[in-house]
Amino acid sequence: MGLLEGQRGIVFGIANDRSIACHIANAFAKEGATCAFPHLPGEKSERRVRKALDGAEIVDPFLIPCDVSNDDELDATFVAIREKFDSIDFLVHSVAFADRTYLKPGVFADTPRDVFAQALDISAYSLVSMARRAKEMMPRGGSIMGMTYYGSDKAVPGYNVMGVAKAALEACTRYLALELGEKGIRVNTISAGPIKTLSSMAVGGIDEIFKWVEQKAPLHRNIEGGEVGKTAVYLASDLSSGVTGENIFVDSGYNIVGL
Ligand code: NAP
Repeated sequence: MGLLEGQRGIVFGIANDRSIACHIANAFAKEGATCAFPHLPGEKSERRVRKALDGAEIVDPFLIPCDVSNDDELDATFVAIREKFDSIDFLVHSVAFADRTYLKPGVFADTPRDVFAQALDISAYSLVSMARRAKEMMPRGGSIMGMTYYGSDKAVPGYNVMGVAKAALEACTRYLALELGEKGIRVNTISAGPIKTLSSMAVGGIDEIFKWVEQKAPLHRNIEGGEVGKTAVYLASDLSSGVTGENIFVDSGYNIVGL
């Protein structure tokens, strides 16, 4: 029997088969979970997600269009999922966006107000707005998790406004964990090392970061998406029943190195 046998939940953030959310969906399916997959509206987006899930061998996936910066779309998404699943056990937030013009070394001080606000809205506030809706569908408690990166705490050249958004995401996680704990809902983040995806390739200087991790991390290699998937299974399952408000690094140990 799988670790998530009979569990149902929502995985936001599949763009293609490289997406961290797709690795998580794959790992959850192997452990017996059933997921709904909200994606940005549009036929092209739906086709990409369907193709990614074909590779993950998920039969008849439940896809719903949803721009997470739009409250009406979020409402409609959660209503549709409630009709299908009644209740849920987990929610995965694997969504981020910032205008790539401002994701390169040397331009952080130039970040315009609207670019800053949009990055924070899509990449951090959306966790709060999802949790507000998800808690109503978690009568037995549940697990909510977001994806973050080392650039939340350290100034990584080029990560810029996304680092600020990740700091906000991690703080939102702690406040949500504090508030939702009495309902048995746990809220955590996974801090993944760099992985080649559409989002990470938008960060200027990312190839240098991959090389640097290989040289400096204790494991002397970059991580694979499946390793984030396995940690997500741990966080969704009873194995982590006493863990909330935490940030778990899956980064070959890079974050512990001081020199
Ligand atoms: P990805 O495949 O590009 O996934 C990002 C997802 O966010 C895409 O599915 C994208 O949809 C979606 N998205 C953006 N704006 C949205 C909106 N307004 N409404 C709904 N969905 C929206 O990249 P990823 O690397 O897997 O990123 C997943 C998460 O992991 C992000 O939070 C990222 O910051 C985090 N992370 C990534 C790395 C890494 O190195 N890859 C490391 C640490 C943390 P479209 O593609 O359709 O626009």
